[in-house]
Amino acid sequence: MATAAEAQAALARIRDCPDGSVLPLEETATLLGVPLPVLTKAINLGKWGWQIQLAIAETERRRLAEVRKVIGIYNIELTNYCNLKCSYCPQPKMGRAKGHMSEEILALCIEHYLKRRIGSALIVNNFGEPLLHPELESRLRQISAAGIDIEVNTNGVLLEKKLPILLTIPSRIDLALSVHQWVAQGPQAYFEALRVWQERVAGTNVSIRQASNASEKMFFFHAWSKGPVQDWDPNIYCEFLWDNRCTVLWNGDFASCCIDCEGESVFGNIAAPVGARSRPWRGCSTCDYRHAPPGTR
Ligand code: SF4
Ligand code: SF4
Repeated sequence: MATAAEAQAALARIRDCPDGSVLPLEETATLLGVPLPVLTKAINLGKWGWQIQLAIAETERRRLAEVRKVIGIYNIELTNYCNLKCSYCPQPKMGRAKGHMSEEILALCIEHYLKRRIGSALIVNNFGEPLLHPELESRLRQISAAGIDIEVNTNGVLLEKKLPILLTIPSRIDLALSVHQWVAQGPQAYFEALRVWQERVAGTNVSIRQASNASEKMFFFHAWSKGPVQDWDPNIYCEFLWDNRCTVLWNGDFASCCIDCEGESVFGNIAAPVGARSRPWRGCSTCDYRHAPPGTR
């Protein structure tokens, strides 16, 4: 039990120590050579609630700095083939090689994802329609066997055919139904189709939710980094660059961002993930997507 005199002495030492005011409690205690209970009592005496808040913030900053040393997998590209040709999407004109993610590449992705999980499920789509993967069931089972839940964005063209597969996967599958099939018909048709699908999967491992760019009145489309050039503002949050996240393309390459259709930003490969760091690329100057607030995926 710390005495009042000890606490007062520690308080005086904290006031004399500029670093002591922003370090975590344990480090402040070590720095000053003061036992932690004495330091705690001293801080209470000084009513330095702000100091504790700063210490917590500093601790969190250091923790995140450590976490971010490991590249985080935001999403993987099971395939970059697609069965639609949406006019607003760069995929139909994609110049990079096409392929399906192999069992070996996926195994490396899973191994790495388990070291640093992003979100509550692994997103398995990028440019392309994931349900087109010719070995869909075995790839999804591979992910599920590692105890990982799955998130799929699908255009839904193959949903009727592939739903029986999805229903046999032991993981929870969170499926976002994109609007692309219903662009010409409009939101009413889309939401009616969504309602029917949701009723069909009720009570199963599969849940189907609306696409984030759909409202009852209209659909929204971003510019896939083909908007007007903007001044770079480092204060605008980008989850890829700030949080060292990446997209893993079907061949295992790391791309800095999920809106990089051509793989211009490729900076590494899942075969050698140590020290990999996402970085700005040409598309950042015309990006209209870097506004996701911290705390989202
Ligand atoms: S928006 Fe989706 S469904 Fe449409 S072409 Fe692009 S990848 Fe395919
Ligand atoms: S293009 Fe946009 S979202 Fe992608 S890395 Fe650059 S700023 Fe971030």
